Amino acid sequence: MSEVRVRFAPSPTGNLHAGNVRTALLNWIFAKQQNGVLILRIEDTDQDRHVIDSEEGIVNDLNWLGIKWSEGPDIGGDFGPYRQSDRSEIHGEYAERLLREGKAYKCYCSEDELKKEREETLAKGLPPKYNGKCRDLSAEEENKKISEGIKPVLRFEVRDGEVSFVDLIKGEISWKLSNIGDFIILRSNGMPSYNFAVVIDDALMKISHVIRGEGHVSNTPRQLLIYEALGFMVPKFAHTPTILNKEKKTLSKRNGALSIRRYREEGYIPEALVNYLSLLSWSSKSGDELLSKERIISEFSFSRMSSSAAVFDDDKLLWMNGQYIRALTSKELLNLSLPILEKSGYQTENFETTSLIVEAVQGNLTKMSDLPQYVEVFYKTEVEPDGAAEMELIKRDESKQVFSGFINSIEDYEEISAEGFKEIMKKVQNDTGVKGKDLWMPIRIAITGQSHGPELPMLIEYFGKEKVVARINKVMEI
Ligand code: GLU
Repeated sequence: MSEVRVRFAPSPTGNLHAGNVRTALLNWIFAKQQNGVLILRIEDTDQDRHVIDSEEGIVNDLNWLGIKWSEGPDIGGDFGPYRQSDRSEIHGEYAERLLREGKAYKCYCSEDELKKEREETLAKGLPPKYNGKCRDLSAEEENKKISEGIKPVLRFEVRDGEVSFVDLIKGEISWKLSNIGDFIILRSNGMPSYNFAVVIDDALMKISHVIRGEGHVSNTPRQLLIYEALGFMVPKFAHTPTILNKEKKTLSKRNGALSIRRYREEGYIPEALVNYLSLLSWSSKSGDELLSKERIISEFSFSRMSSSAAVFDDDKLLWMNGQYIRALTSKELLNLSLPILEKSGYQTENFETTSLIVEAVQGNLTKMSDLPQYVEVFYKTEVEPDGAAEMELIKRDESKQVFSGFINSIEDYEEISAEGFKEIMKKVQNDTGVKGKDLWMPIRIAITGQSHGPELPMLIEYFGKEKVVARINKVMEI
């Protein structure tokens, strides 16, 4: 069997978002599963859309997610260069060849002419398509255009017929070529068009499987024609379904899709994002949703991919991220927490204490950026009931009974552990007859000022007897 070689070929037009990354991820998963090679190729020939520094951002985002390639602009490889703009000479040579073989021709039509023609065709209710005006220019006509200083583009001549291919996800797709006009392969500035460059690069880089977003299905017939014209081996294609947002609009920056960088800044766990993205349009046979990278790699198959659009559900991703946070080891949690806490101005010099604090709230977090808000209670020196409802609650007679019962029972303890606290609460319940929320909530508010937050026994142990007694005495005076 020949080697599996796949590529992720982003255009450096800004930050990666979930859609692009899903494509990168599937290429990586498939390469890993097949012991193949993943290539990173930067498709930067459209200079107008080029956003400075986006290549660096792409590399950083992919690295963060753990998606690794074995050939690319940053590491080289035997099939380089891997930046498309560095391959112009190669593209030019193949374009020349098509010209020589009469499969392409120079077109001198101006933008204005093309625009006018397009409008006329549309007005007739027909699909816009180049009319082939420059296909058979005489030498005389051509010389005239040249003497006028017009720089031509190179167009591929599309003859009549049909093309088809079997997509690994969507099945057989075919087109009538009569709907496709002669398309540009080289622009007047010598730069190749996407449809041309992508074929030359995929063929020369020996790509075996082209895995990309379904937006490219409509480009595929043009690409197939170039493969055929140059006698290249045609790779297999897998076009992945579009990702929609909750409003059922295509996920895009414009429609509010978060960039991968933002997920990173908000404290998402890369493995959670990888897990979530892999489940868009794909499911494991077992039906399990929390899947390690290793399981995704071993269980993935195109045949289990749905061909309809997937909906990106932020809440589900958040839930999944929470699951990954709960599964972090103490050390991993501490390492992720330290920079976040430091940025918020919290003292973190004592790793033992900091560890205790972050572990106490580990179960509350759905993303790491929520950490400062959850740990606030641990660092506060002065506590006040947070709002009117909290204030009302601590003033109730029942609450006052709980407070004094608590103060009485705690006297028997020299220090107070999480276990000791539970014993005390049991005793207070027996003595006062108050139970459930009415028993626990006043204590929580007295200690933290808030009606929700980390595990109370852990908090009590962390604060210690003296502080706990002082805080309860304080609310009793309100
Ligand atoms: N550069 C193209 C894009 O970013 C990818 C093309 C392809 O995968 O064929 O959409």
